[in-house]
Amino acid sequence: MSSYKEIVLRSGKEASLQRFHPWVFSGAIARKPEDLVEGETVRVLAADGTFLGVGHFQIGSIAVRIMSFVDEPIDAAFYKKSLSNAYRMRSSLNLVRPDNTIFRLLHGEGDCLPGLIVDIYGDTAVIQAHSVGIHRDLELVTNALKQILPTDMVKHIFYKSEGTLPYKAGIFPENSYLSGGEDVDEIAMENGLRFRIDWLKGQKTGFFVDQRENRALLEYYAKGRHVLNMFCYTGGFSVYALRGGAASVMSVDSSAKAVSITNQNVALNFGEDPRHSSYPEDAFKFLRQLSGGEKDLIILDPPAFAKHRGAINNALQGYKKLNLQALQKIAPGGFLFTFSCSQVISAEQFRLAVFSAAAISGRKVRILHQLTQPADHPINIYHPEGEYLKGLVLQVE
Ligand code: SAH
Repeated sequence: MSSYKEIVLRSGKEASLQRFHPWVFSGAIARKPEDLVEGETVRVLAADGTFLGVGHFQIGSIAVRIMSFVDEPIDAAFYKKSLSNAYRMRSSLNLVRPDNTIFRLLHGEGDCLPGLIVDIYGDTAVIQAHSVGIHRDLELVTNALKQILPTDMVKHIFYKSEGTLPYKAGIFPENSYLSGGEDVDEIAMENGLRFRIDWLKGQKTGFFVDQRENRALLEYYAKGRHVLNMFCYTGGFSVYALRGGAASVMSVDSSAKAVSITNQNVALNFGEDPRHSSYPEDAFKFLRQLSGGEKDLIILDPPAFAKHRGAINNALQGYKKLNLQALQKIAPGGFLFTFSCSQVISAEQFRLAVFSAAAISGRKVRILHQLTQPADHPINIYHPEGEYLKGLVLQVE
């Protein structure tokens, strides 16, 4: 039995934990010690004293994130076991290969470690904490990583949690190397394609690892097509489209830095490729100015339009407007790859927004594929909120 401080729930509030949902909401708590510090590990008990789980306490609407439903210490051995399980899973998925050195090793709740993200880029591991509990346990996580990964896979460990911890916690960790950091190779490989990953300054941990399988599907459809990659970030979809034999690829992103890395990534794989052009511009404006029928494969992968529940309606309007613009411009017989990464928007809601856009466009539209996040971003079956990436591949007559 672990010896942590205890939080006792109100009567009847134990049901979701008994179904292994990993969050305790603040309203469910009957009693907690006065001196609890944010990030502290606690034992959670039902009103009748039954043990429910061990987790990290935090201030806010989610008050505890459960790390284990077994009464065990959250210590070095625990992290070693959890990370080792996660690595074994990625290896068994055949994601760890000489031609694929980019993968997500640990995906928070999806791997039963709420608050922790670890992405691998070649011989660099990037750790991101989304909870104060994980931040406090950072040394345990780092040591476990060094122990469970092959030595040539972890020459460098970069911690990137500026901006991901709750603001009110008053902890502002600087992004920095926890080990290594010299002679770093920023080039890593996804399915045989080379990418420069900017974990120092880039978005998320530096790359959108979650689109790997969807990019591979796009490659399959790219041959001979005129591709428009909207919200390209560092050009993932563009590089796959070029390898797939696209006739032309245009990459658009409002961030000039992202467009510049897109150009570098194209050059890394194909040198000077006259099929590719790029534009640091606003996507909505760019689509408005595009002449109709010019593109027969369009990708829409915008940032999350809704970051919280209150923003859902506006976000759905945004998805509708964006998809309408693309549907109005796409050439007959063309394909539209359209995505939402807003966690609070369900697959049905997103599909309805795209349906509304299709109806207004008056085009004949068929859904060919319904896409989601890849296997290294697993969804804990007891935590359906973890299903955040939704995509549709449409064929438009
Ligand atoms: N498809 C990318 C990830 C896209 S992330 C990949 O596979 O890697 C979303 C991108 O949208 C970010 O790079 C951001 O800079 C860009 N963005 C945000 N608002 C935009 C806008 N109004 N117009 C164009 N790009 C925008």
